[in-house]
Amino acid sequence: MLKTLQIKLLPDEEQKDILIDTFIRFNEACNFVSRIAFDKKLFNKVFLQRIVYKDIRERFGLAAQLAVRVIAKVVETYKVDKEHFHEFRDFGSIVYDQRILSFKGMDEVSINTVHGRIRIPITIGKYREIPFERIRGQCDLIRRNKQFYLMVAVEVPEEPLIEAKDIIGVDMGIENIAVDSTGKYYSGDEIKDVRKHYSDLRSRLQSKGTKSAKRHLRKLSGKESRFVRNVNHVISKEIVQKAKGTSSAIAIENLNGIRMRTTVKKGQRYIHNSWAFHQLRSFIEYKAMEAGIPVIVVDPKNTSRECPVCHTIDKRNRPERSRFRCISCGFEGEADFVASLNIRNRAAVSQPIVAGAIFGHSTLPAASSEALARSS
Ligand SMILES: [Zn+2]
Repeated sequence: MLKTLQIKLLPDEEQKDILIDTFIRFNEACNFVSRIAFDKKLFNKVFLQRIVYKDIRERFGLAAQLAVRVIAKVVETYKVDKEHFHEFRDFGSIVYDQRILSFKGMDEVSINTVHGRIRIPITIGKYREIPFERIRGQCDLIRRNKQFYLMVAVEVPEEPLIEAKDIIGVDMGIENIAVDSTGKYYSGDEIKDVRKHYSDLRSRLQSKGTKSAKRHLRKLSGKESRFVRNVNHVISKEIVQKAKGTSSAIAIENLNGIRMRTTVKKGQRYIHNSWAFHQLRSFIEYKAMEAGIPVIVVDPKNTSRECPVCHTIDKRNRPERSRFRCISCGFEGEADFVASLNIRNRAAVSQPIVAGAIFGHSTLPAASSEALARSS
C-alpha cells in the first residue's frame, strides 16, 4: 500500500525567501514552457526539451535538474488535457527526485533551489521515522497556509490481519499516557515532567525574543519532540506486541473523544490536548497495521462515565477525576482503567464474531477480572 507522508520544512527567514523565490521561478518557467508547448502543439518531452531547455536555464536561472522537472511537469499536465492552455500558479508544487533532494537523517533535508543547494530542518510530525528505503518515486514540495511541506510516497507493507481471539482496550488519558484493559499502566508522570520543563523553558525564551533565544527555541523543540517520540514509540510497540502475543485486536477511542474529555486545568491542557497523543495513536495504528493486528475504533461518548459491569451511565460515577465508583452497583476502579474496559466492551459489541466467542455485552470481560481486582 502506498501512503503519503507529509513532512514539514522549518526554514529560517532567509531560507523561506529562497523557497518562495524557487517556487515563483519554477512556475514562471512552467508557464513559459506551457505557452510554447500549447502554441506549437508539442507535447513530447524529448522534443520539447530540445527547444526550451537552454532558455529555461538562462531566463529563470534554474539548475539543470530543476529545468528538467519543469518540462516534465508541463508534459504531465498536457497528457491529461491537450485542448486548453495550462497556466501554473505561483506556488504550484515542485516535483523533486533523488538527484535534487536528499534527506540528512530525520532532521534535515538538502534541496536544490534557485540559490543553490540548501539544508533545511524538517519535522516528521506524527510519524515514527522516515522509512527511507521505502520511499517510492518523486516527492512534491508544496506550500500551504504559508508553510512548506514535502509530500513523500512510501510503500507500507501490509500484513494480512490476524483472526482476533480477544480485544485489548486502550484508553489514552491524562494521569496516564495510556492504560490498557489488561490493567497495564503506561505512566504519564515522566513525560509530563519533561514536557512541563520544556514548556517553562520555552515561555522564558519566548519572552526574551532575542536571536539566540530563537535559536535555542528551535533546538529545544527538536529535543522535546525526540523525547516524546521515543516514549510513544516504546509504548505503542509494547501494546502492539502484547496484542500480537495474545492474538488480540486493539480497541481505541475515536479521536474526538480525547479532546471531548478534556476538562483539565488550563495549565495542564497543553499536555493533554497536543500532538503527542495523536502521535501515540498513529504509532499504534501504524505498528498494528504492520503486524496485522486489527484496530477497532469505538465511540468515545461516556467511556469515562459508564460502569463496565452494570452499564449505568452517570456523571456521579466519577466522584473524583481519577476514581470511578458506580452509583448503582458499587463497582469501583481507577478511572482510566475503567475507561479502557468500556472501550474493550464497545469494540466487542461492534465485532459480533469476537464478541460471541468471548463475552457478551452484560458481562465483564474475563481476561480483565484479575486486573480489575488489583485496581479496585
Ligand atoms: Zn455498575
